[in-house]
Amino acid sequence: MTKSYKIGIIKGDGIGPEIVDEAIKVLDAVSVAQGCNLKYTEMLLGGAAIDETGIPLPDETIQGVNKCDAVLFGAIGGPKWDNLERHLRPETGLLGLRKAMGTFANLRPATVYDELVNASTLKPGVVEGVDLMVVRELTGGIYFGQPRELHEEKAFNTMIYTREEVRRIAEVAFEIAMKRQKRICSVDKANVLEVSQFWRETVEEVAKEYPEVELTHMYVDNAAMQLIREPKQFDVILTGNIFGDILSDAASMLSGSIGLLPSASTGRGVGLFEPIHGSAPDIAGQGIANPLATISSASMMLRHALGESKAADKIDDAIKKALKEGYRTGDIADYDAKEVVTCSEMGDIIAEYASK
Ligand code: NAD
Repeated sequence: MTKSYKIGIIKGDGIGPEIVDEAIKVLDAVSVAQGCNLKYTEMLLGGAAIDETGIPLPDETIQGVNKCDAVLFGAIGGPKWDNLERHLRPETGLLGLRKAMGTFANLRPATVYDELVNASTLKPGVVEGVDLMVVRELTGGIYFGQPRELHEEKAFNTMIYTREEVRRIAEVAFEIAMKRQKRICSVDKANVLEVSQFWRETVEEVAKEYPEVELTHMYVDNAAMQLIREPKQFDVILTGNIFGDILSDAASMLSGSIGLLPSASTGRGVGLFEPIHGSAPDIAGQGIANPLATISSASMMLRHALGESKAADKIDDAIKKALKEGYRTGDIADYDAKEVVTCSEMGDIIAEYASK
C-alpha cells in the first residue's frame, strides 16, 4: 500500500527557494521509486512572510506546520529586513516557529565525504571517515533559564535543567545511537557545575534502558579539544544547549563546506529539517548555491520523521555517487572537480541517481 505524508515546505529568503526546489525534486524522484506519496503545503516565514503579511511568523504558518508530518525549511533573512525592529525581524520568526513546534532536540550530523577530505581545514588523515552526530538539547539550559537579568554593574543567567528535559533528550540520543555504532559520549562540565552533575546522573539512568549502548562522559573543554584532535573517536555526542551550540559549529567545520551539512530539530511533535547555513544573500538568484545540505536535510526528514530509511539511504548514496563522479557546485569546485554544476544541475543529478 502506498504511504502518504503531508510535508510542510518553507522556502524562506535568499537562496532558500532555489535549494528547497532541488530538495523537492529529489524527494519526488525518490518517493515515486520507493512507493510513497508526498503532499506538499507551502508556508511563509521570515522576510517572505514580512513582505506578504507584515509579520515574520503568520498564524497560518503555526497552524499549518502542526497539520504536517514534517517540515522542510530553507533559510530566512537578508539585508532587506535587517533594519526592522527585533520583533519584526525574520530571525524572530524562526525562533518563534521552533518554540511553537516544541522542537527540543537538535540533530547535527557531521560527515566527511571521502571525495572532499581536502576541503577541510584539518589534515586529511584526521577527518577522513568522520561520521558523527551531535544531539543538542535546544529548548532548555542557560538560554532559557530564569531568572536572567542585566543591570548596570552585574548581569546573570541561570543554567537549569529538569529531570524530564534531560531524560527526553537522552532518549533521543540513545534511540539514534541504537541505529548507528551504539556509542554515546555525553558532554558536560560536571567537575564544576551542579546542573552538569544532575545531567550526568540522569543520562546514566536512561542508559540503563539501553544496555547495548556504550556510554562515556567527557568535560566540554576536553570535548572541544578532542573534536579537533581525533574526531573519529565519536559516534553520538549528547549535550546541553550552550555546549551543543559551540560543539556543533566546531564539528560542522570538519566537513569543509557549510553548503553540505543538514540538521533536524525534533521533539514530541512535528520535526523541522533544514540546512545549517543561512540564506546566503550574496549568491542568491545566481543559481550557484550548493543544494546538498538541503537535500541531506530532506533525507534526514525521511529517516527520522517518516521512518522511510530506504528512501533516505537512496538519497545519501546518490550524494556520495555524485561527489565521487566529480560533480561540484562552486563552493567546493576547488576539490577534485570533474565538472562544475549549477544548483539545479546538482539537483537533477541527485534526483536521477536516487530514483534508481
Ligand atoms: P550564510 O550561511 O547565509 O552565508 C555564509 C557564507 O556561506 C556566504 O558567503 C554564503 O554565500 C556561503 N553559503 C551559505 N550557504 C551556501 C550554500 N548552500 N552554497 C554555497 N555557499 C553558501 O550566513 P550569513 O551570511 O551570516 O547570513 C546571511 C543571512 O542568513 C542573515 O540574514 C542571517 O541572519 C541568515 N541566517 C539564517 C539562518 C537560518 O535561516 N536558519 C541561519 C544563519 C543565518
